[in-house]
Amino acid sequence: MEKAAKIYVAGHRGMVGSAICRKLEAEGYQNLITRTSSELDLRNQQAVLDFFKEEKPEYVFLAAAKVGGIQANNIYRADFLFDNLMIEANIIHAAYLHQVTKLQFLGSSCIYPKMAPQPLKEDYLLTGALEPTNEPYAIAKITGIKLCESYRDQYGCNFISVMPTNLYGYNDNYDLNNSHVLPALIRKFHEAKVNHEPTVTVWGTGSPKREFLFADDLAEACVFLMEHYNGRELINIGTGEDVTIKELALLVKEVVGFDGELVFDTSKPDGTPRKLMDVSKLHALGYKHTTELKEGVSLAYADFKEKHVLA
Ligand code: GDP
Repeated sequence: MEKAAKIYVAGHRGMVGSAICRKLEAEGYQNLITRTSSELDLRNQQAVLDFFKEEKPEYVFLAAAKVGGIQANNIYRADFLFDNLMIEANIIHAAYLHQVTKLQFLGSSCIYPKMAPQPLKEDYLLTGALEPTNEPYAIAKITGIKLCESYRDQYGCNFISVMPTNLYGYNDNYDLNNSHVLPALIRKFHEAKVNHEPTVTVWGTGSPKREFLFADDLAEACVFLMEHYNGRELINIGTGEDVTIKELALLVKEVVGFDGELVFDTSKPDGTPRKLMDVSKLHALGYKHTTELKEGVSLAYADFKEKHVLA
């Protein structure tokens, strides 16, 4: 990828897209193209085709998606399926028609079967049933992978797919109903601390295990793979390490400095019991994460306090 190459980052206002833009700029890429969702509705095929025709990007990072935590995925099932399918299909097809040099599609670790062996290897895709709470989102993301593979097979497009694990970092979503667990816990512990509440409620049993990657590390891996990987196989991006939700809650409690108790609300779903990525392919290609969980949570908490002035 030439430093002057025209690069479209779809989803540049989100946590992932904004981290990719920062990384590209830090690496000296000067020609980034972005559009907000009000400027360009990625679910609208004609609008996407017009945009590609006008801008003719050479490289595309497909980091635009409708995303959310376990509850949002479970409630807004139609929106998660429809919006993500449209975004992926429109961008990937436009990238083919307008001869994009290379496209990188970002998926998710939830594409793997609920009961797959751990850690999750890339070739476990489509070997079993999915976790029901996020099945529509996972089906959309699996379709994105298959679009990349199929345009490669039929038309020779250099479209690659990467599968990030659970992410957190700057510009995360802290909405208590719709966010993922880590930003939700940061907010809950912070509010409990400032309001002198005795307890913080954690959803589920606390026993599911999750892996967490700092979004800036993900961005570094994405740029690295855009520069160095041209294969058909998907590549997992994670740390290869996981913690229980209870361990995570205790870590956030410590970082925030809350001294009350945890309460587990078992009326909320646990979701998949474990989704730990096998990152041996990523490591063999030459990338390893650098931000450890406690450090990353401290950075995310500082960002949260700066941006969210709470009553
Ligand atoms: P998932 O990885 O798709 O299941 O999505 P989440 O990040 O939303 O949830 C991960 C796990 O954390 C699930 O077992 C949730 O029940 C649990 N969890 C505990 N407290 C919370 C919370 O306040 N918000 C969310 N989103 N999840 C929570």
